[in-house]
Amino acid sequence: MAKQIQAIRGMNDFLPEQTPVWQVVEAKLRQVVASYGYSEIRMPIVEMTNLFQRAIGEVTDVVEKEMYTFSDRNGDSLTLRPEGTAGCVRACIEHGLVYNQERRLWYIGPMFRHERPQKGRYRQFHQFGVEVFGLKGPDIDAELIMLTARLWRELGISDFVTLQLNTLGSSDERAAYRDALIAYLEHHKDALDEDSQRRMYSNPLRVLDSKNERVQEILKNAPKLSDYFGEETQAHFTGLKSLLEMAGISFEVNERLVRGLDYYNYTVFEWVTDSLGAQGTVCGGGRYDGLVEQLGGQATPAVGFAMGLERLTLMLETLEKVNNIPATVDAYICMSGEGALTHGLLLAEKLRADCPDLRVMTHCGGGNFKKQMKRADKVQARFALILGETEINDNKVTIKFLQGQAEQQTVSYDELLPLLG
Ligand code: ATP
Ligand code: MG
Repeated sequence: MAKQIQAIRGMNDFLPEQTPVWQVVEAKLRQVVASYGYSEIRMPIVEMTNLFQRAIGEVTDVVEKEMYTFSDRNGDSLTLRPEGTAGCVRACIEHGLVYNQERRLWYIGPMFRHERPQKGRYRQFHQFGVEVFGLKGPDIDAELIMLTARLWRELGISDFVTLQLNTLGSSDERAAYRDALIAYLEHHKDALDEDSQRRMYSNPLRVLDSKNERVQEILKNAPKLSDYFGEETQAHFTGLKSLLEMAGISFEVNERLVRGLDYYNYTVFEWVTDSLGAQGTVCGGGRYDGLVEQLGGQATPAVGFAMGLERLTLMLETLEKVNNIPATVDAYICMSGEGALTHGLLLAEKLRADCPDLRVMTHCGGGNFKKQMKRADKVQARFALILGETEINDNKVTIKFLQGQAEQQTVSYDELLPLLG
């Protein structure tokens, strides 16, 4: 036998047993965003590499070590998208969608990051994201968080997620803070890990995000970003907090929350859970008022979030919130005798036209009734519809109930329909 070729590590197949939960989640997502009046946008999976370098920032985990970058046949450097915001902003600028206008958009699709695969962390994963342009907030920031909270309610997981909230202030405030933070970190340089030492000059705020406990210990006495906030930042954050309180959404202010990408300002938030172990962030987002201009558009305020659908579906499975039962068949059509195959196929087509919700499977591959009935059982059909010689001659069909005790009946097509409910 030829040697098998396997899928790429960290890139998953979604088997028929797994897709139903994805379908439930995707349907809910679409329904919730529609109920807020948002429109879908679809971007390519591959973009020019410099888009991500410029948008996400050179000194970030994603750009430094996680991107799938390659040269195409023209020698252009291309990258499989590691996230959706950069491509969305690029598309909006390119098509004039955000020039002096508001947009509330959503997208869904695969993202690619070269990380160490583990539970909740993969190399191809899927995000659902929302991006809003042209609104300064905090009303719209609150709306985005309310939208996510509604989704958790719809999926029955509100009790298992908590909202962490922070503000990063304006870029001027961060610049002033940056100097103070660098001065503090210089004092403790020897105690910092390698990543933090490297980042303390290029991107010192990312040191706050460090997962190293010793670094976190040192940070306890570091100057605080919040000491550098002016009135506008305070008012924006207070506004958001009081809107959330009024909406009954509880949150925890976490001053350590800086988020992994460079483009955020003002509001940042994450929804976290402890039902997934280490990969606890299900959804993260924030405001990125500088990005549109940074990518060549007209200055436009913007805010968005992205949620990881693998983590969300894992949560639903762990908490047993959805039945991961594959779609079953309602009617299985069995036939035998001269011309029976044509009758069977046509009966199935007629049923699908008259009852669009009915799941009808036609037996293919021949064989006797016994074999056909075995197939019907195997796919867990609710009824077998049998076309033998007698049925075909009398223009009737026999319905055999495969679940429950009802007696089988031989009926006309019109009599059949009410029996299929
Ligand atoms: P983490 O700190 O877990 O690496 P992140 O800050 O890199 O997350 P974001 O870029 O904010 O993640 O992406 C938004 C969401 O996408 C995350 O909260 C998570 O749910 C999901 N996500 C990110 N990376 C992965 C991955 N490699 N595999 C699966 N889901 C992911
Ligand atoms: Mg990450």
